[in-house]
Amino acid sequence: MPEESRCPPGTPFSFELFPPRSEAAEQTLHETITRLAEVRPDFISVTYGASGSSRQSSLDVLRYINENTTAHPLAHLTCVGSSHFEANRLVREFLDAGITSFLALRGDPPKGAVEGDHFLGDLGSAAELVQLIHRVQTERAQYATLPSRNAAGGGHIRSSRDKVRVAVAAFPNGHPRSKDVLQDIDTLLAKQVAGATFAITQLFFHAEDYLRFASNARAAGVTIPILPGLMPATSSARLRRILELTDERTPVDLARKLESDDSPEAQFEAGVEHAISLASEVLRGGAPGLHLYTFNQHRAVLSVLDGAGLLPAPPIRKENERV
Ligand code: FAD
Repeated sequence: MPEESRCPPGTPFSFELFPPRSEAAEQTLHETITRLAEVRPDFISVTYGASGSSRQSSLDVLRYINENTTAHPLAHLTCVGSSHFEANRLVREFLDAGITSFLALRGDPPKGAVEGDHFLGDLGSAAELVQLIHRVQTERAQYATLPSRNAAGGGHIRSSRDKVRVAVAAFPNGHPRSKDVLQDIDTLLAKQVAGATFAITQLFFHAEDYLRFASNARAAGVTIPILPGLMPATSSARLRRILELTDERTPVDLARKLESDDSPEAQFEAGVEHAISLASEVLRGGAPGLHLYTFNQHRAVLSVLDGAGLLPAPPIRKENERV
């Protein structure tokens, strides 16, 4: 591994998945989850409402992670289309399913909505959803009882004060609809004040974009960790699609490499190599960890972590232990 790609050992990392769109995709996703969970991520997050996925399909994947792996599931939730009552019920339903980590998002208008449509419902921003999640958790905790340790048998009720983790989104190059990056820093501050415990960034391809944003956010008073979101672009078609969806600046060197070789394996290697050097640059610049967009595939993100020296050592088996 080149010296400049070495990352601090023990650096936390996490993954993002989206709910499967067919039964066949569900089976493949379960295999992907198993492979991702084996490397002990900090959490695995599951998108919500994006590309037509439903509340139920997100919850099914979160439950699968919770019940079949040791990984910690983190649920994306959006403000789209919910009244206060429905949003309350939604958060309660996820908490009841054992989910205690969330990414609170404003959400995007559904396909076909036009400018000015009131697609959001009662909650107008991610910051309001952050507050609602904390409120629901606090109300719920009032009723949580723990067994009495009183030897005389006189029971008493104790409320569980376990806090939920609530992440929020951040946009190093500005949200496509915001006036300028300053507005995004103000929004991030508002989400911190509302109770966000960390932020995850939109993907980006230039380390300086993240580092500048993180430094400006700190100067403006943001103290929560800002996790950089990285997606290895392992084919020219995928890179084009990502740029279309996000409006991010084209990584010119990577784009050239991807276009110069038709072989899928060479393109894969180029995408992984680019992501490894991006990961090491942001970590050297002070990023608190890495959040990897998996595209529901484990190979590319695990290759990035391997190349960056971040995969945990496999468990040592005792002699005679059967595999
Ligand atoms: P806010 O924090 O409320 O706003 C963020 C910034 O965008 C502010 O500067 C705000 O002023 C500006 N802004 C937002 N919308 C508008 C608008 N319409 N007009 C003017 N300014 C605007 N979406 C999903 O539906 N499901 C997901 O699972 C999902 N996961 C995501 C995960 C990550 C890590 C990120 C970065 C984004 C994700 N999104 C997801 C997309 C997200 O919902 C949209 O980008 C949404 O438009 C903004 O959400 P927010 O929570 O950042 O909004």
